[in-house]
Amino acid sequence: MAGTGILIEIENNMVKEASLGVMTAAKGQEKYALVLGQEASSVKEKLGEYGAAHILHITAPGNLSANPDLQALAVADAVKEYQLDTLLGTASAMGKDMFARIAAILEEPLVSDCVAVNIKDRTVKKSHFSGKTFATLKINCSCLLCTLRPNSTEPEPSPTACDIIEFEARVADPGLIKIVETRKAGGARLDLTEAPIVITGGRAIKSAENYKMLEACAQKIGAAVGASRAAVDAGYAPHSMQVGQTGKTVSPKLYIACGVSGAVQHFAGMKTSKVIVAINEDKDAPIFSKCDYGIIGDIFKIIPALTEKL
Ligand SMILES: Cc1cc2nc3c(=O)[nH]c(=O)nc-3n(C[C@H](O)[C@H](O)[C@H](O)COP(=O)(O)OP(=O)(O)OC[C@H]3O[C@@H](n4cnc5c(N)ncnc54)[C@H](O)[C@@H]3O)c2cc1C
Repeated sequence: MAGTGILIEIENNMVKEASLGVMTAAKGQEKYALVLGQEASSVKEKLGEYGAAHILHITAPGNLSANPDLQALAVADAVKEYQLDTLLGTASAMGKDMFARIAAILEEPLVSDCVAVNIKDRTVKKSHFSGKTFATLKINCSCLLCTLRPNSTEPEPSPTACDIIEFEARVADPGLIKIVETRKAGGARLDLTEAPIVITGGRAIKSAENYKMLEACAQKIGAAVGASRAAVDAGYAPHSMQVGQTGKTVSPKLYIACGVSGAVQHFAGMKTSKVIVAINEDKDAPIFSKCDYGIIGDIFKIIPALTEKL
């Protein structure tokens, strides 16, 4: 049986929750957790707990950590060396950047931002037409390359004995990219696309200042704060916070829409949330036909009360 590779994302020496979800999505397969550059021993226990039979610790000549071209070449080399027939990752900024390059190097098709994968049948499930339909696609390939939407699979431990394989890729930096500086947006804020809970403010929030009310609530529950396009267009929030067709796609366990009407373009970006709660003072707002729980009322009364209760 050929193995399944999972490209692991690590932050502050911890495996990201989204990568553990991808590990779970590969249930039943012999899993190779691909760790690029950094220390592998510190994440061995966690990856073994989530079913990694092997950690492929990939190094390469040159500065692997700061060069997506070199990273992609190194991963592709590992895929060939260990004859992996599947490579999964997260549809995150890193995943989007890396997988397109890996697909080009391996000359294999890539399916990105999927909500489910069946490795045995070589099928994936993807949201289409702004979230109105889901398509199941059968992929004809030698190596299935697929990124999964963060939070699409709940991480579930399945402890396995795990070893670390050191692999030095036989690749050279093509010299096409020079990273001058890396800046993290939003300081210490949680990444919107990976957060387990998202609380979004729509046009009703009325000012940038009033987002502090949502941030106070978000802090209590470990949520990221999002915005509708109307709020972004009005200058209340930066575009990096926009959820929807022309913003970010999120799939949290809990989505709380505050003063958002529920336009189809907004829905396109949060439809796959597990539980949707809407707070709106208009009982006929379209969001109420699309949510799991609805609260009819004024966000300026409900959010502070909710924050206090939490
Ligand atoms: C091509 C295209 C792409 C688009 N992409 C996106 C996108 O990516 N994301 C996106 O969000 N939109 C997008 N839009 C815009 C979208 O159609 C809507 O206009 C937008 O989502 C509306 O934002 P909103 O719900 O915040 O504002 P509104 O539609 O104005 O709704 C505000 C809601 O707040 C409620 N409200 C007001 N005051 C209070 C209060 N005090 N308490 C409680 N409720 C209150 C009102 O009842 C109302 O329902 C796109 C549109 C187009 C044409």
